Amino acid sequence: MREALVFHSELDAAAPWVEALNAELPDLDLRVSPDVGDPEAVRYALVWKPPHGFFAPFTNLKLVVNLGAGVDALVARDDLPPVPITRISDPDMSRMMASFVLMAVLRHARDIPLFEKAQREGRWHYVQPRPADEISVGVLGLGELGGTAAAEIARQGFRVSGWSRTPKEIPGVACVSGMEALPAFLRASEILVVMLPLTPATRHILNAETLALLPRGAKLINVARGAIIDEPALVAALRSGALGGATLDVFETEPLPAQSPLWGMENVLITPHLASTAIPKSAAAQIAANIRRIQAGESVANPVDPQRGY
Ligand code: NDP
Repeated sequence: MREALVFHSELDAAAPWVEALNAELPDLDLRVSPDVGDPEAVRYALVWKPPHGFFAPFTNLKLVVNLGAGVDALVARDDLPPVPITRISDPDMSRMMASFVLMAVLRHARDIPLFEKAQREGRWHYVQPRPADEISVGVLGLGELGGTAAAEIARQGFRVSGWSRTPKEIPGVACVSGMEALPAFLRASEILVVMLPLTPATRHILNAETLALLPRGAKLINVARGAIIDEPALVAALRSGALGGATLDVFETEPLPAQSPLWGMENVLITPHLASTAIPKSAAAQIAANIRRIQAGESVANPVDPQRGY
């Protein structure tokens, strides 16, 4: 019986993934849920938020690949099969994220929202630009996406600091780690970029108390997960001027509910969770490499640790 991979996503089209994986693994039988055929042949699952109980029929499963970088929805489930879990780790996906973050940082650093407002009002509104090396940008989370974004911002000459759980070294980025380093890190971040995974340790890590540590008028960019920030505290900080503005790509509830006060805030840019996406053409090679490792009886690269939550 040919080994099979089952694909499930309600967000991503199956055809480009089937084509890209077929080019890498021509011997693999690629099946798109719900058309899964004989479940006993299924060895690999490439999934984004499959329904509860999805994995139960696949008794010979050897690997679950999360169709994206954020695994919070997957590792929080109580029906996870006891097999290795990996995520998409793809330099093209990191570049896509880094370019979005850079756009957002530059937008705040160059006061673009002020000029958009002035234009709407027909006002010529000169504001002296500040050199990048006088503007401090803090990046929370220095993983595959966060580390790449921090390096990209540093390349533009900003004064960049980064915060992670364990010590890191990134050229041009002043790296600190651990909870004890967080308050001083926040106090120094005029522009704060949130790139942490959502885990029990990071849920609401930005709340009324920690947001108050940021310099008055600081700008916040969240491209990670909405629930890392206590949303009512964020709204209050934006209303009071404690925060000067925000670029928000992710929210506690998505799509952002129509009644959210964030929609109507002039100092907020809302984008619908698209800072970066998994790209079949470039990600397929890395998925295929992990499948070949399983076939050779080796351990997978970049495993997710469900206990750690990322
Ligand atoms: P990684 O898992 O590669 O890295 C996570 C980083 O966060 C690491 O540096 C890690 O520290 C740090 N971290 C985790 N927990 C803590 C903690 N408790 N305290 C301090 N630091 C911590 O993630 P990526 O960089 O690849 O991605 C980040 C997130 O971006 C994803 O989890 C996902 O939610 C989100 N995302 C959003 C997308 C969008 O379109 N908006 C698209 C893709 C991803 P250490 O290095 O020490 O382990």
